Amino acid sequence: MKQDTICAIATANGMGALGIIRLSGDDAVEITNRVFEGKNLEKVKSHTVHYGFIKDGSESIDEVMVSVFLAPKTFTTENSVEISYHGSPFIGKKILEVLLKNGARMAKAGEFTMRAFMNGRIDLSQAESIADLIASENEASRKVALKQLKGGITDEISILRTDLLNFVSLVELELDFAEEDVEFADRTALTALLNKIELKLKSLIESFTYGNALKNGVAVAILGKPNAGKSTLLNALLKEERAIVSDIAGTTRDTIEEVIHIKGNAFRLIDTAGLRETTDEIEKIGVEKAKEKSDKADILIYLIDAASTDISEDIAMLKSLLRDDLETVICFTKMDKNSAATHSFEEKIKAETGQQSLKFLEISAKENVNLDELKNSLTHFVESLKTDENVVITNQRHFEALQKSLQAVKAVEDAVTEKITTELLAYELRNALEYLGEISGEFTNDEVLGNIFSKFCIGK
Ligand code: GDP
Repeated sequence: MKQDTICAIATANGMGALGIIRLSGDDAVEITNRVFEGKNLEKVKSHTVHYGFIKDGSESIDEVMVSVFLAPKTFTTENSVEISYHGSPFIGKKILEVLLKNGARMAKAGEFTMRAFMNGRIDLSQAESIADLIASENEASRKVALKQLKGGITDEISILRTDLLNFVSLVELELDFAEEDVEFADRTALTALLNKIELKLKSLIESFTYGNALKNGVAVAILGKPNAGKSTLLNALLKEERAIVSDIAGTTRDTIEEVIHIKGNAFRLIDTAGLRETTDEIEKIGVEKAKEKSDKADILIYLIDAASTDISEDIAMLKSLLRDDLETVICFTKMDKNSAATHSFEEKIKAETGQQSLKFLEISAKENVNLDELKNSLTHFVESLKTDENVVITNQRHFEALQKSLQAVKAVEDAVTEKITTELLAYELRNALEYLGEISGEFTNDEVLGNIFSKFCIGK
């Protein structure tokens, strides 16, 4: 079937030195050639670049460079062309118009990548990683998306899937020979494989916490009594590490968040709007509001003025905020003007909250004392989420598919132990395969059939 030719501007909106228009489809080269003054593009070799002009009838629109990529070694596996023009949005639009007039159509959102997937050049999870790569705003999320693009998670899962597929084939074969009551699929080996898959799935699922931290940043709440030094600390952190963050399409943020990048990791400072206002009007946050903030946080930085004499309110506050999965760093602030030892406070807090693993730091936001230490404990937290997994799950869809796979695999295990009918076992197995295949977007049933035919040649 003929693949229609799509075109779109591939570069960002707005003025740039260059803009790129991309075409993909059977007639990509032919259509471009119709509007190109220069070499005959239909005669040029693949993966070559050509100088010339784009014309609308007799009128030249722009001086361009045209790259020609012939199927199948292209991103979409189809004939593809890239036109580099002088980066005015107006010129881009004019060139698009003339391409549309000559037989191309506007690409839908993500259609180039979708074609790459439909044509089997990449799998679903790789297609998703391209979107992640484009959206990556820090070193960590870039790295993890790139790894995914190279096929990370699919490789891991397809090995397990292939093994499982063999069993499905055998179990389905048993169904074909139902009357003869034969058992092709060794149930002990199947259980061993299921255990292996279960472990792998669990560990991939576990890596999501880390993946999520890399991709979306770690949520940090800075809390403490009025005048404890929260806004001074915030400003000190922002001054050094503030990130340039664009609006990420599709995300709604209910609170204003500042983002800082430390060693390539993003930290989202939750709801710091109040802190950025002038300190004349000191924001009095009650326990309720503080709890609301810390509930959203992965890390709590709780500040106590080191000159305090009575910290009973802080202890009461901490008691209501602390939770097992909230990494907490308690900072005694303004240490530049304070020489009093804070050790007794530490002991008191530990004793009264019953939490022995709290971290304590003595800082001065004004004089930059121990701020590096504080930043280290933030990055250390991200590091501590790392699992032994080589591949890190960052995608919610993969996470959910993995959870469903795990449930399905458990159901197969139950089916084996309970020695239920082969039909049901085959059904549960197919379920598990399907969920595992959801990640890469494979079509399970065809595959099962294909596997049976290729291995056993039934019906030949
Ligand atoms: P917030 O109410 O918790 O946000 O506290 P602020 O950051 O507004 O600080 C309250 C007061 O303490 C201000 O006058 C700050 O200048 C002062 N302050 C904050 N941090 C430090 C510090 O590290 N050293 C000194 N000497 N003063 C500080």
